[in-house]
Amino acid sequence: MSIRDALAAGLGFRDLALIDAHAHVGRWGSFYMADPSLIQLVRELDRFNIELCCVTSLLAFSVDMPRGNDEVLEAIRFAPDRFLGYVSLVPHQPLADCRREVQRMLDASDRIIGLKFHPMWNNYPINGDLYQPLWELAAEFCPLVLVHCWLGGEEPEANNTPDKVAQMAARYPGVTVIMGHSGGSRAGQLQCAELCRRRPNLYMDLCGSEFGNLWIERLLEHAPADKVLFATDIPFLGAGSPAGRVGYAAIDDAIKRKILRVNMERILATCTRWGRDRFRSSTPLTRHGLTSTANQPALQMGTHHDNPDQ
Ligand SMILES: [Zn+2]
Repeated sequence: MSIRDALAAGLGFRDLALIDAHAHVGRWGSFYMADPSLIQLVRELDRFNIELCCVTSLLAFSVDMPRGNDEVLEAIRFAPDRFLGYVSLVPHQPLADCRREVQRMLDASDRIIGLKFHPMWNNYPINGDLYQPLWELAAEFCPLVLVHCWLGGEEPEANNTPDKVAQMAARYPGVTVIMGHSGGSRAGQLQCAELCRRRPNLYMDLCGSEFGNLWIERLLEHAPADKVLFATDIPFLGAGSPAGRVGYAAIDDAIKRKILRVNMERILATCTRWGRDRFRSSTPLTRHGLTSTANQPALQMGTHHDNPDQ
């Protein structure tokens, strides 16, 4: 039975365990959230058969970086087989604090997979001087970065336009970069698609992309299917919209599987030691566009865990 037929029959994603590349834990003060509790998050994951959910803390990039990042560890402790975490870093904090934060989180859990930057909320350009050493931290410790990315909208969104994010991906070719929300607007999504086509280490996630009103079928006329990632933005948004947009789309099931799971599985297997161990048997460990795996930062992350003194 096809994915679309199974959904239409009310069977859900029964044959495919999804991976959510971008979601959150914690509370947010700027608008209403129905229920951000961990138990509700797990309920939502179960509803859509989301096996793994990669979360960042809302508190961490708003008012309290360490306390917020602790919420990510709390989620991992709450449901150890369901959550993976990004470390949120704020460019206005002292670099030594950010460095300590990355090391603290990596030491605390092997399910910490990368860094999260939110240039709009922190009102600082992703390609600015203060972010530069944070990109260096990613390259050194955990070469996967999720960046809030939007084209248009309010003025602070100019801090994270797709071209600025892509500029940093070009500067750090060993770091895999996910453009959160695929640039949001229709124009942003088309720009992200074009940039993903050109830059091997650049990816785009679907959460909030419904606001651009661009059907998945149309998006895939521009974006490489290997570069598009399922993501929910829960608990801001529900998982139903991105899951339904992909699940019901008039595209091959093989492409749906890539978007809903396989692409992110490959990223995790390439960029993180946890993913390498977890997916070793099922995923070829080659990074897009790179001919050699020698000296890749992904291996440095493993070294970091192997040697606690570092
Ligand atoms: Zn988000």
